[in-house]
Amino acid sequence: MLDITEEKLKNTYKIDKKTIDLYERALDDVKDQFEYYDEIREYNQIKVLDAMQKENISDSHFTNSSGYGYGDIGRDSLDRVYARIFNSESALVRPHFVNGTHALCCAIFGNLRPGDTMLSVCGTPYDTLHDLIGIGENKKLGSLREYGINYEQVDLGKNNKIDFKSIGEHLKKNDSIRLVHIQRSTGYGWRKSLLVSEIKDIIDFVKQIKPNVICFVDNCYGEFIDTLEPTDVGADLAAGSLIKNIGGGIAPTGGYIVGKEEYITQASYRLTVPGIGGECGSTFGVMRLLYEGLFLAPHISMEALKGAVFCARIMELAGFEVLPKYNDKRSDIIQAIKFNDKSKLIDFCRSIQKGSPIDSFVKCEPWDMPGYSDQVIMAAGAFVQGASIELSADAPIREPYIGYLQGGLTFDHAKIGILIALSSIL
Ligand SMILES: *Cc1c(COP(=O)(O)O)cnc(C)c1O
Repeated sequence: MLDITEEKLKNTYKIDKKTIDLYERALDDVKDQFEYYDEIREYNQIKVLDAMQKENISDSHFTNSSGYGYGDIGRDSLDRVYARIFNSESALVRPHFVNGTHALCCAIFGNLRPGDTMLSVCGTPYDTLHDLIGIGENKKLGSLREYGINYEQVDLGKNNKIDFKSIGEHLKKNDSIRLVHIQRSTGYGWRKSLLVSEIKDIIDFVKQIKPNVICFVDNCYGEFIDTLEPTDVGADLAAGSLIKNIGGGIAPTGGYIVGKEEYITQASYRLTVPGIGGECGSTFGVMRLLYEGLFLAPHISMEALKGAVFCARIMELAGFEVLPKYNDKRSDIIQAIKFNDKSKLIDFCRSIQKGSPIDSFVKCEPWDMPGYSDQVIMAAGAFVQGASIELSADAPIREPYIGYLQGGLTFDHAKIGILIALSSIL
């Protein structure tokens, strides 16, 4: 680091010498990792560029539609661009998905019928899906369960490995299993994200026993971290949020679903109306932002990923337990840090907020967030409200006080935020 940069950090943010030393060691240690991820970034940039060129995207795709939004060419072409990138038959990319949970919900709900069973094979799904499934506390929300759609779950086995034996037993015993739910990212757990190669192993295993079961992947935070996506390795459906990786920090809102045409169609009937599906929906002039974000996403996702790798190393050097470690192979942009201490966790998140470009003056507090059972603290001083492709940290307030850091539109900003947060708790 330049002396004047060190001086600037010290004067502006009171970063001490000890933290700077850790910074320099960490940066040195992560070099090989960065080189590896730079290659993935380059590959995915070609993939995105090629898809846009093949669909002849032009200025005319950025215009505004109104009313019913029939024949919105920007919207329909973006679906095809996504389908190419994900090597899937079809896609539904919409600003009308209010968040990732909504996209997941349409994919799952749209494809299940009373009497069917959904089987989760990675333990309890992400917190916001509990009410959708009907395993949350509130029983009167119109969940899958209320509509007579059952739920079964296979927990992760020893060392958080997929329990193939138990998955096989469920599939053989229960003929009503129609959809297998696979969650790529960690969520608020303490496990590594599933590599695309591991997702492939699960899908191959499931299809060998029941070829017609829909293999569905919650792909949140996973896009562009590998050269392959779940739909490249046999997933029938995958879904995620546009204010995470694939919106590139530019998409103002939205979600996507990709996969087999018949399943996408069913999901679209859930998003809008049976029989209308994806053919309606004006796009409020946001299409340019969805295209531009997608174009930047391979790069931005890797900036965020570098932030996570750097965070893992510097926090480990500072004596904290982290998951994944800096040199583990990654499949999402999340970095988990175990604080074992409530006030350190809260301080860390507050300092990430302090290091944000927006709302840096806000002191964040744990609160009862809709969809979550524990109180949650969320630090997100973002240009797009709640966008976790931007530098952010969050945590449910429960033992052993694990914090989750993700995002950073630039690696430089991620570094600065992490330095501020680390020096505040040292
Ligand atoms: C973020 C996320 C979701 C969806 O969350 P939203 O806040 O609704 O976008 C679902 N599953 C996982 C694993 C996630 O990380």
